[in-house]
Amino acid sequence: MPSPFDPQVIEGLYRELTKECTGQVASYIPELAKASPDRFGISYAGVNGKQQHWGDSEERFTIQSIAKTVNYCIAQKLLGEDNVHKSIGLEPSGHGFNKITLDGDHRPHNPMVNAGGITACYLIQKVCGKDALETIQKTWAAATNGEVPEVDEEVLASEKNTGHRNFAIAHFLMEHGVFEKGTKIHEVTDFYFATCSLQTNTRKLALFAATLANGGTNPVSREEVFAPKVARNCLTLMLSCGMYDYSGTFAFRVGLPAKSGVSGGLILGIPRVGGFGIWSPPLDAFGNPVRALAFCEKLSSEFPLHSCHCDCLLS
Ligand code: GLU
Repeated sequence: MPSPFDPQVIEGLYRELTKECTGQVASYIPELAKASPDRFGISYAGVNGKQQHWGDSEERFTIQSIAKTVNYCIAQKLLGEDNVHKSIGLEPSGHGFNKITLDGDHRPHNPMVNAGGITACYLIQKVCGKDALETIQKTWAAATNGEVPEVDEEVLASEKNTGHRNFAIAHFLMEHGVFEKGTKIHEVTDFYFATCSLQTNTRKLALFAATLANGGTNPVSREEVFAPKVARNCLTLMLSCGMYDYSGTFAFRVGLPAKSGVSGGLILGIPRVGGFGIWSPPLDAFGNPVRALAFCEKLSSEFPLHSCHCDCLLS
């Protein structure tokens, strides 16, 4: 299948967006504040395996909340969809990503907010024990370019030293029986922080997004990393819950599944077509990377990609 994108149009969007200088680099995790606001990379991977890159596509940054997508897929793979959703809901929360809150069934609202992401880590750790992080690393490698991602130890230490809200969320989950009695809360939060501190770049993000968009099969290696239903579930919750408190507006304007993280990374999946990985550290008031968000909005207006758009995509 040929790429539906004219690379020159993408190049033009990239250049235009380098002039966008609003937003603030995240500083609540002090180590993240060191990122240069000028860095900007975009990568695309098609389900046909073709890849293209613009700007700082090889520069490393930490994956942050984008880890919630791979963690959710792995939790489903290990425990099955139904068991995961006994502990984690399927609805947008309507609250900030790190709010201490549960749904009416005493579950975190969804796997894309911190309470749900920490619960997915708890579930993975219950099955994998000490091998939990290695499981994430190997799965990420299988879904990307085969390289096992390393933990950024400085970011990890910074998260642990300042992660009071996440410790509070974990205690709240314990209090409400989401974690079983005897759970070592700090082991769960340490694991959660480590997954957020994995290093990546836009090339890997694009391949991960393309793996999801390709029904869970890495489009380059052809390895089935996730079952099609697992990938579909993840894309669905990215569409409804992946962009913090802007998720509804993003679904309305862009109409595609995406997940952002506070280091400025973003994955955009285009089911059956491919995936983008984008990185630019300055964030808007919702915590979404300003340039990446603008790119997605412009891309969806330049090309008929919105999932509710009714014309044939490649006509
Ligand atoms: N490690 C970050 C936290 O839990 C991830 C947040 C995010 O990227 O949304 O605060």
